[in-house]
Amino acid sequence: HAKETERGIFMFFTEDMNVRVKERLMLENKLRRAIEAEEFTLYYQPKVIAETGEITGAEALIRWVDPELGIIGPDKFIPVAEETGLIVPIGEWVFRTACAQMKKWKDMGLSITNVAVNLSGRQFSKPDLAADLMAIMEEEQADPKMLEIEITESFIASSQSSMVESLAVLSKKGVKLSVDDFGTGYSSLSYLHRFPLDIMKIDRSFIMNIKEGEDDTSEKLAKAVIAIGKSMNLKIVGEGVENDTQLEFLRENGCDYIQGYYFSKPVPADEFEKLLQEGATL
Ligand code: C2E
Ligand code: MG
Ligand code: MG
Ligand code: MG
Repeated sequence: HAKETERGIFMFFTEDMNVRVKERLMLENKLRRAIEAEEFTLYYQPKVIAETGEITGAEALIRWVDPELGIIGPDKFIPVAEETGLIVPIGEWVFRTACAQMKKWKDMGLSITNVAVNLSGRQFSKPDLAADLMAIMEEEQADPKMLEIEITESFIASSQSSMVESLAVLSKKGVKLSVDDFGTGYSSLSYLHRFPLDIMKIDRSFIMNIKEGEDDTSEKLAKAVIAIGKSMNLKIVGEGVENDTQLEFLRENGCDYIQGYYFSKPVPADEFEKLLQEGATL
């Protein structure tokens, strides 16, 4: 009897695996075609100055516009892109598109100080990544000083020396470097000093739990994270701000920039332009 059960579990497990492997393969093939057909677009989420509520820049966030399925978010395909190496061409497309957009906004006379692009740690497996990115900036006539690169804390924790070198090269050119989703990685504080960091983005999970009248454990944690950033002379961005309570908390605790649905969700480029033209504030 025990043997039968074991076999049952084993068969169930392999069938389940098969489905997942097939789904993944399908997604990988679809993704390859999407790269060729350029089925991607960038949305932009405003970053506002905490003190004044003015828009200072935007984070570029990729969307896949599938002809049948519609808009697919990055959480659905970035992990597969990372596993398969497809993140290299996708990441290059993202970087080029963001650079071209930035130039366009500058030519339109729109006051925007920076655009942030997310880079996956996997893109650094290309040893000449920094040279590639610099060539793109030049071709698209984008000002490196207006560009920001966001890398998650977990990738920074892995701290490959090729990544340290590439980022040092870009930093010398004036590109700002931001550690994303801070506080969710591996508390790898000792690694942070190896990178020429400028900005720290506190992960949404810390901000999410800041609620009116709640016990203050979350607030203490958020304060501790801000203190780490401040001690390293980094600018602090609060991510995922959805209400007044969270905004006030971050303002009071010296957070420099705010990003979140409370001000705006990520929007297509033309909608972001409207926000800039209207001079929208918090
Ligand atoms: P991230 O870089 O931490 O970006 C912030 C995510 O939080 C975005 O999700 C944004 O829409 C969401 N968000 C912002 N404010 C709020 C809020 O107030 N409430 C809630 N619930 N969510 C908020 P999105 O666009 O789905 O992107 C998810 C992740 O996918 C990003 O997290 C980033 O890690 C990755 N990603 C996005 N675009 C790219 C890209 O071009 N390249 C790479 N390598 N990764 C990307
Ligand atoms: Mg980011
Ligand atoms: Mg983040
Ligand atoms: Mg994230």
